[in-house]
Amino acid sequence: MQSVERGPNDTLVTRILEQPMPATRELHADFIIDATGLDARAEANPLLKDLVDCYHLPLNSNGRLQVANDFEIPQLRNGTGRFYAAGAATLGGPYAAVDSFLGLQYAALQSVESLARHHTPHLHPLTPWRSLGQWLKWIANRPPSS
Ligand SMILES: Cc1cc2nc3c(=O)[nH]c(=O)nc-3n(C[C@H](O)[C@H](O)[C@H](O)COP(=O)(O)OP(=O)(O)OC[C@H]3O[C@@H](n4cnc5c(N)ncnc54)[C@H](O)[C@@H]3O)c2cc1C
Repeated sequence: MQSVERGPNDTLVTRILEQPMPATRELHADFIIDATGLDARAEANPLLKDLVDCYHLPLNSNGRLQVANDFEIPQLRNGTGRFYAAGAATLGGPYAAVDSFLGLQYAALQSVESLARHHTPHLHPLTPWRSLGQWLKWIANRPPSS
């Protein structure tokens, strides 16, 4: 961002230097929302940084938590315990759309399937029949079975 100046009628004029071709773009707006909080690199988050430093976790090319194809962080295995991560904190890993609502659902499904493969107690793979049964329970306003 090159500059922010006051424009006509209480507007703000923002000049942005476009990359890679140097050209200046001018934006006229009523408000600017400061979104610096959206920096999701592990280094920028005290909780994730502590986790990375403490367990020497590898980061992906985006500087975020590196996960396996099933979204597990294998370095955090503890006995039968498993640790899975998804979303903004893992963008740049094996699943490109992980930082989206659909991506979060896919990651959750893959993580649960992975836990089921490891014979986690009371957890079963999601088959079409099981999915139908749970959906019928949802329609009948009954709690899902484990
Ligand atoms: C403007 C915008 C529009 C979007 N539109 C879409 C869309 O239309 N469709 C779509 O699929 N995706 C969209 N996305 C992407 C979607 O919002 C993200 O994929 C999703 O929110 C990621 O979820 P998350 O849980 O990984 O991270 P977040 O939603 O960012 O949640 C992380 C949470 O952790 C909290 N937190 C951070 N540090 C700490 C700490 N130290 N202690 C405690 N809490 C902490 C934060 O406050 C935050 O609530 C959009 C994103 C943006 C920014």
